[in-house]
Amino acid sequence: MTDTEMIIDPQRAAALVSQIKTVRERIAAVAKGRDVRLVAVSKLKPANDILALVQQASPPQLHFGENYAQELSQKAELLPRNIQWHFIGGLQSGHCKSLAKIPNLFCVSSIDSEKKAQLLDKYRGEFLSNPSSSSFSPDSPPVPVPGKINVHVQVNTSGEPTKSGCAPGPSTVALCRAVRALPNLHLLGLMTIGAIARSMATATTPADPADPDAPVNEDFACLRQQRDLVAAELGLDPETLELSMGMSEDFEGAIVAGSSEVRVGSTLFGARGPKSEAKIKV
Ligand SMILES: *Cc1c(COP(=O)(O)O)cnc(C)c1O
Repeated sequence: MTDTEMIIDPQRAAALVSQIKTVRERIAAVAKGRDVRLVAVSKLKPANDILALVQQASPPQLHFGENYAQELSQKAELLPRNIQWHFIGGLQSGHCKSLAKIPNLFCVSSIDSEKKAQLLDKYRGEFLSNPSSSSFSPDSPPVPVPGKINVHVQVNTSGEPTKSGCAPGPSTVALCRAVRALPNLHLLGLMTIGAIARSMATATTPADPADPDAPVNEDFACLRQQRDLVAAELGLDPETLELSMGMSEDFEGAIVAGSSEVRVGSTLFGARGPKSEAKIKV
């Protein structure tokens, strides 16, 4: 199937366009003129939802986030090449090779070990020296020249054992230092998911997220501290390191707390069904 064959339901497209407009307005209302990247989290949603936002949102939505490596590879093959893909799901070593071969992979946001960073770097290097090994079929339309993969180091700011991510402190500094030494990766910044409970506690105040009395989300405060620590230890300007934090329930609070990138799924696309029922082509 090519994108010309993909059918977009006009009503569904209109709803998606309206939802993204609302989210963009909500971001702008708290961003105080800062540029905050919106990653539309399209995991488990069909490819034609994504295509609708690429073709019909104004300006086009091009940053999309996915959690499953295979689903991301399939969607990247199917959808326009100017999309900038983000892998935001739990990263396994076994994913690194297929991810590295996606020419328009913009960012891997879930780097949590030096081993996985090294694998991603190695496979990206192999791919860049032989781009015909692309995951895309030879008859696919031309892709922008692929380059380094941006990465976020994921920090486990909540300390929950079920969350992946690098422990705050020396481990995070060491991992960032290691990533910066790898030729085919670019350290864009830090990412956290955070504890749902804390998100819910702060999300009830969207009416005035700039209220100084609004509860401080400890995950966001922690990520910011880690960014400042990494910058100091590595001799960087903290402003050159991004903070990827904030999801549907808490993105406004995250922006007030300094987020440079929010990852919004269900507020844009609606609730997600079980993975077993998800379809890429509908
Ligand atoms: C699913 C997911 C999101 C989006 O979550 P919503 O609550 O649907 O906005 C953001 N970040 C990560 C890492 C995710 O897995």
